[in-house]
Amino acid sequence: MLLLNPGPVTLSERVRRSLLQTDLCHREDEFFDLQDEIRARLLDVYALDAARWAPVLLTGSGTAAVEAMMSSLPGADARLLIIENGVYGERMSAIATRHGIAHETVRHAWGAPVDVAAVIARLDTATPAMPAVTHVGIVHHETTTGRLNAVGAVGAACRARGIGVLLDAVSSFGAEMIDFAGWGITAAAATANKCLHGVPGACFVIAARDALAQAAPRTLYLDLPAWARAQDARGTPFTPSVHAYYALLEALREFADEGGLDARQARYAALADQARAGLAAMGIEGLLEPRDASVVLRAYRLPDGIDYPLLHDTLKRHGFVIYAGQGALAKAMFRISTMGAITAPDIDRLLAVIRGLLAARPAAD
Ligand SMILES: *Cc1c(COP(=O)(O)O)cnc(C)c1O
Repeated sequence: MLLLNPGPVTLSERVRRSLLQTDLCHREDEFFDLQDEIRARLLDVYALDAARWAPVLLTGSGTAAVEAMMSSLPGADARLLIIENGVYGERMSAIATRHGIAHETVRHAWGAPVDVAAVIARLDTATPAMPAVTHVGIVHHETTTGRLNAVGAVGAACRARGIGVLLDAVSSFGAEMIDFAGWGITAAAATANKCLHGVPGACFVIAARDALAQAAPRTLYLDLPAWARAQDARGTPFTPSVHAYYALLEALREFADEGGLDARQARYAALADQARAGLAAMGIEGLLEPRDASVVLRAYRLPDGIDYPLLHDTLKRHGFVIYAGQGALAKAMFRISTMGAITAPDIDRLLAVIRGLLAARPAAD
């Protein structure tokens, strides 16, 4: 089965085999060697300086990393401005609510571009009713619709004002450019099993060390500075998902061997364009213009006469798992992600199955 959903991904044989390595105690040197190499390689993805940035590995899915970042880094007097244009921006707000962190939202329709002018206008406001914003929470690639958000413009404005940026990079880390310094990033949260091609169970936050020093952790388990301190000292606070770490390390080695970030971005872009062009030739339109979309995932409008269950089940019989739209978009669209061990011939076969389905569609009268 080939997974075209946005994670977990189809594994390469190399990563799959890495799961069969020897059993490891997480309090032995062998485990800390594994952990150290993963942490160094995570920084290498964006050529980050270890003196300034702490890679913090956690056990959990991507949401655990986002929650650890958001519940740990803002201080007691923080005020967050969270930008919503899909499920994951809304999840950041839900996390802030759950932890009682003062916040407000800039809410857009799902798929709409971020209103950068409105965000900046709010950043320049400070009144008793609208206290100054200390951090902006934003999703880089909003997987709900495939939109790549304007983090560059928002981040530059934050940086100029000394406002922190908490970035959900769960579905972009390893595939899209992130300018950590230029965008004023305080921390970015991501996971092993999306663009890095590991297995679910390991996630991580890349946090500015000065922000960790001023953190106010609100939970015991997701205490980001505690994880960072332990890992810096070749330790771990709790039992990590050792096998997920094996896979993440092998995936990071494979990532580097294949040419790193630029190569992965180019590979995804080629696959996404192949799928887009093939679907367009059948009259199936993308939800967004390619220039607004990530290379990682694209959303498409369901063709007339084909509902999602029919498309999904037909493709599944041929060995492909696609992904539905979320919420109100569930009846109108489908999504195709090209993360993981997916090749151009795979996309050709996918397109052929869809072409066959359309040809068998009863003619509209
Ligand atoms: C996948 C994803 C998450 C986290 O999802 P999990 O199921 O917890 O791994 C968070 N944000 C974005 C943008 C995502 O695509």
